[in-house]
Amino acid sequence: SAKIIDGKLIAKQIREEIAGEVASMKNEIGIVPGLAVILVGSRKDSQTYVRNKKKACEAVGIMSYEVNLPGDSTEEEVLKHISGFNSDPSVHGILVQLPLPRHMNEENILNSISIEKDVDGFHPLNIGRLAMQGRDPLFIPCTPKGCMELLHRYGVEIKGKRAVVIGRSNIVGMPAALLLQRENAAISMVHSYTKNPEEITRQADIVISAVGVANLVRGSWLKPGAVVIDVGINPINDAEDPRGYRLVGDVCYEEACEVASAVTPVPGGVGPMTIAMLLSNTLSSAKRIHKVE
Ligand code: NAD
Repeated sequence: SAKIIDGKLIAKQIREEIAGEVASMKNEIGIVPGLAVILVGSRKDSQTYVRNKKKACEAVGIMSYEVNLPGDSTEEEVLKHISGFNSDPSVHGILVQLPLPRHMNEENILNSISIEKDVDGFHPLNIGRLAMQGRDPLFIPCTPKGCMELLHRYGVEIKGKRAVVIGRSNIVGMPAALLLQRENAAISMVHSYTKNPEEITRQADIVISAVGVANLVRGSWLKPGAVVIDVGINPINDAEDPRGYRLVGDVCYEEACEVASAVTPVPGGVGPMTIAMLLSNTLSSAKRIHKVE
């Protein structure tokens, strides 16, 4: 049966590495990395994500600055805060929690973040560089970067392998496919218009699923021995859980364990890696800005 890829453990190790680097940066040059988070509106899930990001910063010694704007704020107000953080030397990373309210233009807002401080990696210049040969983005989006880090730390060979990414969102699927391609995998992207997803997925040595549909990927979709990274986070009803629901991935975990050689659990797989990568991007931004080796 499959090896369990322990994202929780790896994320903890990475956070410890980051805490050590943050402490020595403070000792040596007196600089503390800073992350600014802008939240617009009062979506419960977004509030939880922002709170978790803030707590994770505190735990490793990164300063966090939070702006909460009401859901009926104007785009100009958001742009004004971004512009302030762009020129604030104590801020090394700026993150706008998505989704934004519908009356705001997400593209305008993401474009206005200084590319030097774009720790989410969503600026079109960073994504464009990710897609180009011989160019390097300043930042790689956190969730797909976390998926790659799991593959690297588990010693999964990527070069020359076949990889299938299910889902093609700007924040997960598309950059995940670009990253695998940069490491010389042959990639296929499967999405909601793909006619024979199981047949395509069954060819993959590496599967990354980022869809948002519980148990979409069955054991029969997997090639024996495949490595499976499950990004999906889906609530399903569960009368035995005190909350009335529990979280599962896109991949039918029990079936995948029978067929795959390694698989990430949900929760405890990719989820904890996303925040660890945000901290890592913020630290490397501060190092780049202050020219620390
Ligand atoms: P999204 O809704 O933006 O994109 C979903 C993608 O899946 C689309 O490209 C769509 O074409 C594709 N899709 C939809 N139905 C499909 C089907 N039946 N077969 C194949 N493809 C299909 O979602 P997202 O923001 O990329 O998030 C995807 C999932 O990952 C969600 O469950 C989300 O909660 C989770 N997520 C987890 C983390 C993390 O830190 N672990 C981070 C971001 C998102």
